[in-house]
Amino acid sequence: MDKISSIFGSLVFNDAVMKERLPKDIYKALKRNMEEGTNLSLEVANTVATAMKNWALEKGATHFTHWFQPMTGITAEKHDSFLTPTGDGGVIMEFSGKELIKGEPDASSFPSGGIRATFEARGYTNWDPSSFAFIKEHTLCIPTAFCSYHGEALDKKTPLLRSMEALNIQALRVLRLFGQYEVQRVVSTIGAEQEYFLINKDLFDKRKDLIYCGRTLFGAKPPKNQELDDHYFGAIKPRVSAYMEELDEELWKLGIYVKTEHNEVAPSQHELAPVFTTSNIATDQNQMTMELMKKVASNHGLVCLLHEKPFAGINGSGKHVNWSLSTSTGENLLKPGKNPGSNLRFLLFLCAVIKAVDEYQDLLRISVASAGNDHRLGGNEAPPAIISMFIGEDLEALLNAIERGEDYTENQDRTMNMGISVLSQFKRDTTDRNRTSPFAFTGNKFEFRMPGSGASIACPSYMLNVTVAESLRQFADILEQSKDMEASLKTLIKHTVAKHKRIIFNGNNYAEEWIAMAESRGLLNLKSTVDALPLFTSEKNLRLLKQHGIFTEVEVRARQEILLREYCNVLNIEALTMTDMANRSILPAVSAYIKTLSDTALGKKELGLEEKACELEKEWITNLSSISQSLYRAVHELDNALIEVNALEDLFATAEYYSKIVLPVMREIRIAADTLETMTASDSWPFPAYGELLFSV
Ligand code: ADP
Ligand code: MG
Repeated sequence: MDKISSIFGSLVFNDAVMKERLPKDIYKALKRNMEEGTNLSLEVANTVATAMKNWALEKGATHFTHWFQPMTGITAEKHDSFLTPTGDGGVIMEFSGKELIKGEPDASSFPSGGIRATFEARGYTNWDPSSFAFIKEHTLCIPTAFCSYHGEALDKKTPLLRSMEALNIQALRVLRLFGQYEVQRVVSTIGAEQEYFLINKDLFDKRKDLIYCGRTLFGAKPPKNQELDDHYFGAIKPRVSAYMEELDEELWKLGIYVKTEHNEVAPSQHELAPVFTTSNIATDQNQMTMELMKKVASNHGLVCLLHEKPFAGINGSGKHVNWSLSTSTGENLLKPGKNPGSNLRFLLFLCAVIKAVDEYQDLLRISVASAGNDHRLGGNEAPPAIISMFIGEDLEALLNAIERGEDYTENQDRTMNMGISVLSQFKRDTTDRNRTSPFAFTGNKFEFRMPGSGASIACPSYMLNVTVAESLRQFADILEQSKDMEASLKTLIKHTVAKHKRIIFNGNNYAEEWIAMAESRGLLNLKSTVDALPLFTSEKNLRLLKQHGIFTEVEVRARQEILLREYCNVLNIEALTMTDMANRSILPAVSAYIKTLSDTALGKKELGLEEKACELEKEWITNLSSISQSLYRAVHELDNALIEVNALEDLFATAEYYSKIVLPVMREIRIAADTLETMTASDSWPFPAYGELLFSV
């Protein structure tokens, strides 16, 4: 057996293991649950628990944990041992169905947005049988959802599971109208391409900004950046290859099939792409991937940066969420087929996404909003904060023809003349992607490019699921009343295109003109997290989220609060790190360097050189002093701003203050400090410069 197949999935309680170890009827019940969302009895749970435990013990596990995804964005676990005393001084290894199904971690230190304070501090974890259990360092990890005593979601998985259910219900209604009774379930599928930076750990350790904030707060532009485009798909360096090789193996063991790994545009930036799976499993796998990326890096003397914008002036890192819909019979509902013009089902699902993205631009923007991603959206490579869709010229022409009521199915020649439809042409267009679009149709799926590299993909996933579920619900409501399906479908598609085509933009999203054009189309441009988050609780959004059972109003408000708080906390930490670095490292270093320069001048005088010979040092010192003074003052201003912002009570006002007052002062500080860096001898600068960080691996 080759290496991959011998280790692939070896640490996962996956389908093959279940099939081998569970009695037939139990296996079938579990599969039905995974595929159709049916309930599981305690009897099934008990049998599964025993099989899981025996399997885990054979793999060397001693503990189990309910693995969950609290609102911190990372995963949490509380380990319990399988060991149970027998009363006669011995032990047996036990694990019951009850322990598998439900856990009660001490939840008080996880963010809850005020939900727990009003009820009880207790939180529960509930087994999610639709994702696979796995082993991590002697611990059997059971994927679970985390909720409060009263069932409110306190995590990222619960709304995702709820949204998958909502999408399934509405998609099935639509498929029934096409006579597809054989389909039992429709799921959203995701492949999350992950970008990241790798830098040397010894350099990382010398920078407080990287240690505390995950990104650089200072750093002058190096002489060379990414302008030569020589890193993209360039040869991978041996150390990086060794890292990728080990990471691949660790991921394969967890059943995560990583397909391509290549260099990205920026120096030291790379990308990893797994093969897609259901959005729930993809989300779990992406969390494990991020954890392993960091862990494996430390084995190679490297640090993996997952921040959305670790370096100013250089491409940020995103996580492209490739999203599609798949039926239990194995069909991709966004696959256009040979002749998309006559594929009414494809056109209807395409329209459902177009309508969803247009009507819920705000929720999609919110789903990727964070202090870190604010630096990236609208930046050099990443999509701007305006949401629009790329569908390619052929599809756009096709939709336009539909809107005009032109014949697009019978007359194949005509459609060809219009540049529409035949497969070869269609493919060429869709694969020749518009890299600037935040939401691109790429042949048989959409690629949402706004999510940040460090964040969980749960939120963009459930927002896509629920907004598309709502389009499908409205479509099904109309079509179920229809007497002439084909005619109604065509009318519906036509109306949807007419109403929502403003969201389609195949041009360059980075062009200045687009901003004005988008505004004239009435599209939203929510530049920052603080602009976006208030819309979470708009009437329209609350209605949508409630109607499909994703969130109660209490849950939405809690989430909004958590996100705002996180935004404020991140900025507070960054601001404090900045003042610390400026006051305790940069200013003293510049002072010391001024001393060196003045010593040089004095030395020249001692040698009897003329005043003129010291002009260089004088001018240098004058400039350094004046810029240091600006820096010193700006730091003082930041200190005062922090005192003021900490006195504010209202959370929205606090976040607004950070965005409108604190951030601009931080920018000022950075400009002064970066200028000082370019004027100070490199061996006198207190921490590694951009050039070293980016080009030394
Ligand atoms: P490329 O972008 O190089 O053409 P692919 O299009 O095959 O490569 O895949 C890019 C990413 O999209 C991969 O992570 C892949 O698994 C994912 N992907 C492919 N098909 C789907 C799908 N139907 N649903 C969700 N993700 C998909
Ligand atoms: Mg991509």
